Amino acid sequence: MDQSQKWTARKIRQSFLDFFEARKHDIVPSAPIVLKGDPTLMFTNAGMNQFKDYFLGNDTPKNTRVTDTQKCLRVSGKHNDLEEVGHDTYHHTMFEMLGNWSFGDYFKTEAIEWAWKLLTEVYGLDKDRLYVTVFEGDKEDELEKDQDSFNNWKKFTAEDRILNGNKKDNFWEMGASGPCGPSSEIHIDLRNDDERAKVDARTLVNMDHPQVVEIWNLVFIEFNRKADGSLEKLPAKHVDTGMGFERLCMALQGKQSNYDTDVFTPLIAKIENLSGIKYGKDEQQTIAIRVIADHVRAVAFAIADGQLPSNTGAGYVIRRILRRAIRYGFSYLNMKEAFIYQLVEILAEQMGEFFPEIQSQKQLVEKVIHEEENSFLRTLEQGIELLDRHVNWVLDVKKDDPEMRKILDGRKAFELYDTFGFPIDLTELILKEKGFEIDRLGFESHLKKQRNRSKEASKSELGDWVTLKDDEKEEFIGYDYTSAQVSITRYRKVVAKKKELYQLVFSLTPFYPEGGGQVGDKGLLHNDNENIEIIDTKKEHGVIIHIAEKLPGNLEAKFQAEVNTDLRTDASYNHSATHLLHQALREVLGTHIEQKGSLVAPNHLRFDFSHFSKVTDEEIQQIEDLVNNRVQKNFSLEEFRNIPINKAQEMGAMMLFGEKYGDTVRAIKFGESIELCGGIHVGATGEIGLFKITHEGAVAAGIRRIEALTGATARKYVNEHIGTLNIIKQELKNVKDPIAGINSLKDENSKLKKQIEELIREKAKGEKDVWMNNAVQKDGYTLIIQKTALDGGAVKDLLFQIKNENENIAAVIGVDMGDKAQIAVAFSDELAKEKGWHAGNMVKELAREIKGGGGGQPFFATAGGKDPAGIDKALEKAKTLL
Ligand code: ATP
Ligand code: MG
Repeated sequence: MDQSQKWTARKIRQSFLDFFEARKHDIVPSAPIVLKGDPTLMFTNAGMNQFKDYFLGNDTPKNTRVTDTQKCLRVSGKHNDLEEVGHDTYHHTMFEMLGNWSFGDYFKTEAIEWAWKLLTEVYGLDKDRLYVTVFEGDKEDELEKDQDSFNNWKKFTAEDRILNGNKKDNFWEMGASGPCGPSSEIHIDLRNDDERAKVDARTLVNMDHPQVVEIWNLVFIEFNRKADGSLEKLPAKHVDTGMGFERLCMALQGKQSNYDTDVFTPLIAKIENLSGIKYGKDEQQTIAIRVIADHVRAVAFAIADGQLPSNTGAGYVIRRILRRAIRYGFSYLNMKEAFIYQLVEILAEQMGEFFPEIQSQKQLVEKVIHEEENSFLRTLEQGIELLDRHVNWVLDVKKDDPEMRKILDGRKAFELYDTFGFPIDLTELILKEKGFEIDRLGFESHLKKQRNRSKEASKSELGDWVTLKDDEKEEFIGYDYTSAQVSITRYRKVVAKKKELYQLVFSLTPFYPEGGGQVGDKGLLHNDNENIEIIDTKKEHGVIIHIAEKLPGNLEAKFQAEVNTDLRTDASYNHSATHLLHQALREVLGTHIEQKGSLVAPNHLRFDFSHFSKVTDEEIQQIEDLVNNRVQKNFSLEEFRNIPINKAQEMGAMMLFGEKYGDTVRAIKFGESIELCGGIHVGATGEIGLFKITHEGAVAAGIRRIEALTGATARKYVNEHIGTLNIIKQELKNVKDPIAGINSLKDENSKLKKQIEELIREKAKGEKDVWMNNAVQKDGYTLIIQKTALDGGAVKDLLFQIKNENENIAAVIGVDMGDKAQIAVAFSDELAKEKGWHAGNMVKELAREIKGGGGGQPFFATAGGKDPAGIDKALEKAKTLL
């Protein structure tokens, strides 16, 4: 049997999870690929990310053994494989990392034994193709060789297959400080027998050989790296492993490239089908197909997890990945129209069973990708046109200038890159076809200058935390209190956009930190001696941070921390109204509605959701009515704090894709609306008072936005509108039916417009007669020199009429517009040729008299100026020229 039929990707994934479940591991879901609330990381780049707090000791796990497959993305920051992807056959942007974890439970013995057993007995991989590495020790850190791991491996494999690795490859650290420890990697040799006989695999391990690759990394976390660089033993020892799923599929299916496994073959078949180009024939085209098959996965999963392509941050990274795919399709597969969106269907079929988010949001993902493709393809076209024009201009005008001939200067290339998002290597490719080059150094220097500018602009400095009190728990009590006596436990200074601010952490706090769309609380920190304003509250790594513009004089004192309850109450109206809006949207528009972003501020609310057409006025009215009915019903708040997540699900609470929920959650219920939410809410919906939608529109392909007001702000909005209407009624002198009043005004207006046009036409006709009467017959042509008060457009019309009706006309018209002047010059075509006259050149010269400039074709040209007093002089001059 073909190996790829025996070991399908699905079966490989499931067998991994089953294997560890049988060894008392809980199977947990993959965390979202897009991270929220972690300022150090944009995307999940390893399986351990979601368990960071367990290693740091900030949180305790429910089960000390866990297993999963984690969606990872390595396209930015410390782990960035983007440039390799497609060019090699075993690095992806998005990949699945299979992992098993022990939090203070089993250690090296079990981790190594199970890894070996799974690979060789369950999966049946050939032992002779496996090699392992162990940490060789490090002088600087005073660490011995990892003899434990060595001894454990020796139970299963020959000593000469256990290779030493240095600190770079075999000592894993999360960051500059924190939990860390030696790692042990498993590598596999997938070369054919001939090659294996020729070169010893030992010399190829960790040498970037495409068929001798690392598949599994076992990390043994047993140290803590302290800020001063020294290591201390952790009280508990942990296991953190990560195996590349696609590489494992390659090994088990007997392939030599990840792209030949059933993870990718359906996608590649579709690309072949759409482009008519065969995979594996031409090198460049094959790379392009790999790039596209890879990138569509990253982009689709990021969108499904809530990250739309945009111009900043994580959204920009996603946009750039998609553009890289579009560009490879455009340049190497000749795909000039959107096509990548059509791959989403295949992806959803393949992965939807295990990752339901991609199945249920397929339509949205397709829409977003399609729209991005169209807009970038337009950009590419514009850029190419611009380049063509430049090339033609150089070839035409500058043909005698050898310097100019072959090189596009760096500034121009940068302009294309910067304003059109036109990638430099594409510019280079297109120019190369025309025998041109780019001044690459010039381009780089412009790029560098711009980077420095934006670095300067976004420069921020983080001071070190100053700890005042060490051991107090910084508890949030804001659901029950809006004021509390606190002390400051630590603080630091930050400089952002040249402004100095202080971040304060309290022993406990009633302040709500920005989150779940709701803005952070503002308020006051005060005692008998001083008042410090808190201008915002945020949460970072689980710590609530209060932001102030200055520090208290006495940091050790006790303070009253007082939330601004006016603002908070207003925000609570908007937050509860947001839940009712979400519920109404699903009732009126359908259950395909997914929340895609929300803002809850004291003075308004904003709600983004997936939906594929404009919400009609009738639908808006229905939605608003549903919400207002429930406001009137005055449903009491039912709050469920710290309930298990499955209990909340049973109650029917809505879960959002791309959100990570803990084992226990808070659920908020008003009538039939139940949401998982950490925000601040009203005691009963009647407090909202009034709900008013003020705007509905598109924010991106497939994403709509509703903005709305509540309470006093909504009343004010309604009253202002009624006030405006009253004024309109009075002005129209038609109080009963202002619409009829407006319609009759519009009718009258269009009648008047027609009359005016008629009058202008008559006036112009009169003017034409005057011009022809005043014309002078010269040697073989008719010369018209006139001053007029007609506007420029009318003058142009008249001149073209005259040229049409008469032969051999030369005309110079000065237009006096009071504060500005214009000159128009027109010649009959044959006359201009015969006499060698050029209207464009002549008007330039005449324009000097009216202090202006202009130009145009040989037969017709205009110029504008700011000095009408010069018109007569200009006309005199014209007489001498003609
Ligand atoms: P490599 O040296 O091959 O880039 P790595 O040292 O970066 O691997 P780890 O950070 O240890 O890898 O990740 C654990 C496992 O995840 C690796 O053993 C490998 O199988 C897989 N892996 C890592 N990066 C990628 C990637 N870009 N695409 C696919 N799989 C990957
Ligand atoms: Mg790597």
